[in-house]
Amino acid sequence: MQEQLLMIPGPCALDPEVLKEMSRPLVPHYGEDWAKLYNSVREALKPLLGTKQEVFMTVGSGHSAVETAVNGLAGAGEKILVVENGIFGHKIAWIAKTLGIDPVVVQEDWGKSADPGKVEAALQEHGDVVAVAMVHGETSTGVVNPVAAVGRIAKKHGLPFFVDAVCSVGAMEFKMDEWGVDVVVTASQKGLSAPPGLAILCLSEKGWARVRREAHRPVGWYLNLNIWREYNDTQRDYQPYGITMTVNNVRALKASLHQIYQEGFERRFARHREVMAYLREGLKSLGLEPWATGEPLPLVTAVKCPPGIATKQIVDNLINEYGIWIGSGLGEYKNSVFRIGHMGRSANQEAVDRLLAALRGTLEKLR
Ligand SMILES: *Cc1c(COP(=O)(O)O)cnc(C)c1O
Repeated sequence: MQEQLLMIPGPCALDPEVLKEMSRPLVPHYGEDWAKLYNSVREALKPLLGTKQEVFMTVGSGHSAVETAVNGLAGAGEKILVVENGIFGHKIAWIAKTLGIDPVVVQEDWGKSADPGKVEAALQEHGDVVAVAMVHGETSTGVVNPVAAVGRIAKKHGLPFFVDAVCSVGAMEFKMDEWGVDVVVTASQKGLSAPPGLAILCLSEKGWARVRREAHRPVGWYLNLNIWREYNDTQRDYQPYGITMTVNNVRALKASLHQIYQEGFERRFARHREVMAYLREGLKSLGLEPWATGEPLPLVTAVKCPPGIATKQIVDNLINEYGIWIGSGLGEYKNSVFRIGHMGRSANQEAVDRLLAALRGTLEKLR
């Protein structure tokens, strides 16, 4: 039996050198040596985020970073504009609502990229919005949103701009400073190719000014940027946070970042684009079509199920007979779309060939 192949839309298969870090004996999560290692990981993330700002790394999944960001940008009773063209845009609005914030949703068809013109129109209509939020790589549909264009609009209106880049960072270009992003969040387990568990946030000066204002300061303690900032500023070289850091996750991320730097950003980003194109060609030869029509995300491809075949049949057959995990559709596309993750170690021709052969066999059986 071949080793199982993880090609869900994140996390994907990890390199053995990265996994090895997870089994090392623990060390204390504080102290000068530890702080040096931790800070070096934060430093190494800066070029991947495209920033000169301090990077914050907390314990949690991507959602915790999204909630922390929303909590920092607006308070109960305030309005934020949220672009929604997939489940993760929807979740920003949902998280905002749970905090008592009123989301003004700019809706786009799922599978399309966001339209900056609609953002402009919504801001003209809602003069009382206090921040703009959008997802970069929409993992639920496999499309990229135009961050730079929306960043220019937010800036024109003098509003802080929050981007959920949980999926994309590490496997495609992201330029926080250049694109006018004031808060960006990502997580360890997708484009960064490390185990899940670390939530990463970075803020511009404008972002910090927003978080630190007197009115509507972030609520709570754990998901509160002011608390993380306070620890960071007072004990950066010893324990730059007030919690127990997941030390082995940090070491695994360090190992993954080392590989990302060795491969080179440009080569890594190009590899993801090439594998995506290769997969799309292969799908076409099987008579399958990509589902989304927006700018394709180089880490995830959503595919329409052929007529008469449901997602679950394909997903189940791939794992039961071929040992390959893929994802189903999300929301109302749960049973008519399937999603393939091709990020990090799974972004290679060999993995795609194995998947395509298994898909061919599966379709022959189900048709
Ligand atoms: C995966 C993902 C999240 C959520 O991350 P979790 O680690 O599952 O909490 C949020 N946004 C995007 C774009 C994602 O791909």
